[in-house]
Amino acid sequence: MTFKELNIITPILQAIEHEGYEIPSPIQQQAIPMLLEGKDILGSAQTGTGKTLAFAVPILQGLYQQQTNPSIKPHIQALILAPTRELAEQIKESFRNYGKNLNLKIEVIYGGVSQRNQEIALKKGVDVLIATPGRLMDLMNQGFIHLDHVKYLVLDEADRMLDMGFIRDVRKIVSFIPEQRQTALFSATVPKDILDLANSLLKDPIRVAVTPVETTLEIIKQSLYYVSKKEKTNLLIDLLVNPKMASVLVFTRTKHGANKLVKELLSYGVKTEAIHGNKSQNHRLKVLNEFKERKLRVLVATDIAARGIDIDELSHVINYDLPETPETYIHRIGRTGRAGLSGEAISFCHKDELNLLKAIEKHIMQTIPVVKEHHFAKQDETASSKQHTQQSGSSQTTQKKKPTSTYKHQNRVYGSSSQKKRQNDSKNHKQSSENNHKREHHSGNKSYTKHQPTKKR
Ligand code: AMP
Repeated sequence: MTFKELNIITPILQAIEHEGYEIPSPIQQQAIPMLLEGKDILGSAQTGTGKTLAFAVPILQGLYQQQTNPSIKPHIQALILAPTRELAEQIKESFRNYGKNLNLKIEVIYGGVSQRNQEIALKKGVDVLIATPGRLMDLMNQGFIHLDHVKYLVLDEADRMLDMGFIRDVRKIVSFIPEQRQTALFSATVPKDILDLANSLLKDPIRVAVTPVETTLEIIKQSLYYVSKKEKTNLLIDLLVNPKMASVLVFTRTKHGANKLVKELLSYGVKTEAIHGNKSQNHRLKVLNEFKERKLRVLVATDIAARGIDIDELSHVINYDLPETPETYIHRIGRTGRAGLSGEAISFCHKDELNLLKAIEKHIMQTIPVVKEHHFAKQDETASSKQHTQQSGSSQTTQKKKPTSTYKHQNRVYGSSSQKKRQNDSKNHKQSSENNHKREHHSGNKSYTKHQPTKKR
C-alpha cells in the first residue's frame, strides 16, 4: 500500500515524500480512510506508530479542500489537545511538515512560557491549534481563544491527560466546541475511564487498534539488572562505556532523583542533562534538540517530561528506577524501537522495587531476561567489601578488582566503596576541578577522553 492509494492529495503527498516515508504505517492505513470519510475514531496506539500523521493528514486535507479565501483571517478549525509541551511541539512540527504546501496557519500553545507570543500568533489567526489543556483554558478565559468554528478535535495520549488530572479541563474545553465536528481520540491504553470519555465525546466511533504492546515489545531487547540502590549510578556509568549506547534516555522516578543523577554523572565526566517539570520550557526544548541532534548522548528524564518524546533511532532506554505503573514501563521502553527500528531497554531493580517488577512482568506477560553477571550484582555483606573491576564495554563478565596499579587500562574504576568515593568526589569536585586531568577510556573499539576530578585511588 502506498500513500497515494489512501487518496491523499498531491501537495500533502509531496510533503510526505519529502519526509522520506514510503509506506503508510498500520495505523495510517487504518485510520486515514476512516478519517477522510468523516468518521470518529477511537485509536489505541502509542507513540512510535505513526499516529500523528494518521490524524494530521486527514485534517490538513479537509481544511485545505474547504479553504475558501486564504487571505481572510482564519478561525481555529482544528484543535489538538496533548498532555505535555513536548508532545504539543512535536505535533505542531508534524502538522507544519505535512502541511507545508497548504498555506494553513498552524500554532501551538502550552504553559511554562510567556503567553505574549502565543497571544500575538492567535490574534493573527490560526487554522490548526495544538494545545495543552491548562494554557488553553487560561487563554480561553482571557478571551484570546474561541472554539466555535472548530470542526476537528483530536485528543492525543488521552490516557496520559487523564493521569495528569486534565480530565475536567478537557471536558470543559470540549463543551465550547460545536457538536457538529469530527473527533478522534488516541490513547496508548484504553482502560474503562478512557472508554467512558470516548463514549461521551465520540459519535459511533470506529475502533482502530495497532501495534499491540506485544508487537512493540518483540522488537525491543529487554534486560534486567538486579542492583542495590546505591550501586545504580555505578552500574549506569559502567553500561554507558559501551559505544553501542549511541543515544540513551534514562528514566528516574522523581525530579529530585533526575537532578541528583545528572550531578553524579557530570562529576564522572558523562555529559548529560535532565528534563522534568521544574525545568523551564526553553531549557527543555534546548536539551531535547541537543539530544535529538546527537549533541547530547545521555538524557535523564521523568515520565511526564519524556512523555511522547519522539526521537528517531533512540538506541537505549534505561529504567534507572522502575516505574510505578506497568503501563508506564511500556510507554518508556516504547521510546526506543521506533518506526520499525530495534532498540534496547535496560531496567535496574533493587529489592524495594520487586513488587513493581512483578506487576510489569505480569502486564507484559513476559519475564524480562536477567543479566546475572555484572560488576554490581548483588553481593553478600562480606563480599561487598571486595571491589570489582569493570570490563570494557561488557556487562556480562565479572572480574575481581585488580590492585590499584592496574587501573590505568580500565575504562572506569568503581567498586563497592565507590559510593563513598563518589560522595567525597562530589564534595571535592569544586576544589579539585582546577586540577582536572584527562583520562583515556577505551571501550572495545571506542575510546574517549574523560575529564574527571583528580582522585586518590
Ligand atoms: P508518532 O507515532 O506519530 O509519534 O510517529 C513516530 C515516528 O514515525 C515519527 O518520527 C514519524 O516521523 C515517523 N513516521 C510516521 N509515519 C511514518 C511512515 N509511514 N514511515 C516511516 N516513518 C514514519
